[in-house]
Amino acid sequence: MKTRIATAALGTLLFTAFANASEPPHWTYQGKTGTSHWAGLEADYAVCGTGQRQSPINIETRKVTGTTAQPIGVSYAPARAEVINNGHTVQVEPANGGTLTIDGVEYKLAQFHFHTPSEERIDGKSYPLVAHLVHKSAEGKLAVIAVLFRTGKSNAALRPVFASLPARAGDKHAMGGTINVGDLLPGSRDNYTFIGSLTTPPCSEDVRWVVMKTPVSVSSAQLAAFRKLYRMNARPVQAVNGREVLVGR
Ligand SMILES: [Zn+2]
Repeated sequence: MKTRIATAALGTLLFTAFANASEPPHWTYQGKTGTSHWAGLEADYAVCGTGQRQSPINIETRKVTGTTAQPIGVSYAPARAEVINNGHTVQVEPANGGTLTIDGVEYKLAQFHFHTPSEERIDGKSYPLVAHLVHKSAEGKLAVIAVLFRTGKSNAALRPVFASLPARAGDKHAMGGTINVGDLLPGSRDNYTFIGSLTTPPCSEDVRWVVMKTPVSVSSAQLAAFRKLYRMNARPVQAVNGREVLVGR
């Protein structure tokens, strides 16, 4: 009997330890662990403060310096996906969702997630929502497509995701049906492209950004469903520091 109680107690201890370990990392968007404090929270986060090519940025269209040599190539396909509430956003992880090709380098779609309001600004204007489509090359390089949303009609491509958003941090479930990430893109592929960073700790640089010029639509009900979970999860714009911003196709 004693052994059994001891085992039960140990089980509780292990469970508690596991629960703590799986809690979201200690960074937030506001307050004592908010965006202006990220650099000091962990040694690995230092570049959030010292980096010279941080994201997001305000794209000043009059300062765009030219156009890219080649258009981006996208090849997306319908895919099953897992939907995860990771404590900072809702993240969708499609299985074999497709690829993005930039300057001959192929990047595989890894996941996409949302920020409200949009982190990117164009000539100072922000949008109610942005999706970041994160892609990774075989060498581990990252390329992110940002799709801006304006409020309007319901976004059909997002319906399987928004049909059942995981309510609590740590929740994860298989999405019903499939999603084709290509259906999230605007009809025009015109974009602004530049080198930046992850917009969340550890803020790692050397990320290729492709910000779609044309916003797509999201309904106010879809937006409200996301904001019920995350009212504000956007990092403020960072210094451009003379970075080259090009127009891409
Ligand atoms: Zn993001």
